[in-house]
Amino acid sequence: MFGLFSCDIGIDLGTANTLVHVAGKGIVINEPTVVAIDRKNDRVTYIGAEAKKMLGRTPDEIVAKRPMKDGVIAEFELVAALLQHFIRKVQKYPLFLVKPRIVVGVPSGITPVERRAVVEATRNAGAREVYLVEEPMAAAIGMKIPVTDASGHMVIDCGGGTSEIAVISLGGTVCKCSVPIGGVKMDEAIINYLRREHRLLIGESTAEEVKKKIGSAFPLENELTMEVKGRDLAAGIPRTITVKSEEIREALSEPISKIAEAVKKTLENTPPELSADILDKGIIMAGGTSLLKGLDARLRLETNLPVSVIDDALLCVCKGTARILEDLDTYRKVLMPISG
Ligand code: ADP
Ligand code: MG
Repeated sequence: MFGLFSCDIGIDLGTANTLVHVAGKGIVINEPTVVAIDRKNDRVTYIGAEAKKMLGRTPDEIVAKRPMKDGVIAEFELVAALLQHFIRKVQKYPLFLVKPRIVVGVPSGITPVERRAVVEATRNAGAREVYLVEEPMAAAIGMKIPVTDASGHMVIDCGGGTSEIAVISLGGTVCKCSVPIGGVKMDEAIINYLRREHRLLIGESTAEEVKKKIGSAFPLENELTMEVKGRDLAAGIPRTITVKSEEIREALSEPISKIAEAVKKTLENTPPELSADILDKGIIMAGGTSLLKGLDARLRLETNLPVSVIDDALLCVCKGTARILEDLDTYRKVLMPISG
């Protein structure tokens, strides 16, 4: 009887960004997975973009947190508040009239307890049915890879907190590896490098900007420079320095090597028949960190395989969660068990 008001929602609960897709409308929310709380009374004050602005520049009584740190749920209550806030925001009809079906894409390494917590939070936000999917699987579906076919595909989802590598065949993940290395660790590496080599202190947002503008994983055809503002470590006053892309590449070498090692390890563990498929089709990358300049070239060099980055790298997981709901009968077997 609620057919007229049926409403399907796909959510990518990422460590850096949360995206929400509503059937018939597309992606309507794309905001940082950040929650700001008031220390005085422990109340949530801002969620998403507003909260992210506060990271690193909050007054004493307000603290901004990333509740999905390192690909695990660091703070259940905050994740629940964030999910409920976004789900209510996109709900067109009152919840007593229509209860949506919701698919949530979650990091592949989350524990059964964490899975149940996400399901419960989503139900409390008004969902009628809740399904979970591992993010690399959702990315593969978002890339339009025929995941239920018998051939093997390797997908890498490089996000903010984790890089997740999966070999997918027959609707399941045959091999996978999740490393707690992503964009956030790269930002930290840049902060540490500038402090060590230039005696300059910078914050997370500046580090992220440096990474996006001149960061790379492989020599660039035209190396770049950038002016970076921060605080002089010794004098304690603001200072501007010019940084070269070669330096930032050096700063990023450790996290990038760790990602490359994880990819190689996953390839070693892949059954030979599927290796042959991957040799033909190559590796496809998604996630914001896959946009780092030269990461594809670096992995190509390390694996000797074709490596490409999908066009809509930042949206792919969310689009995958939406596609699952469009054809739940086909995709039911790719879903993550909720308990056990
Ligand atoms: P998650 O799935 O963990 O929420 P995303 O896939 O949304 O993460 O990716 C966010 C990460 O991607 C951030 O660390 C961000 O700095 C990084 N990122 C976004 N665009 C670029 C870019 N052009 N170059 C390098 N890193 C990028
Ligand atoms: Mg992601």
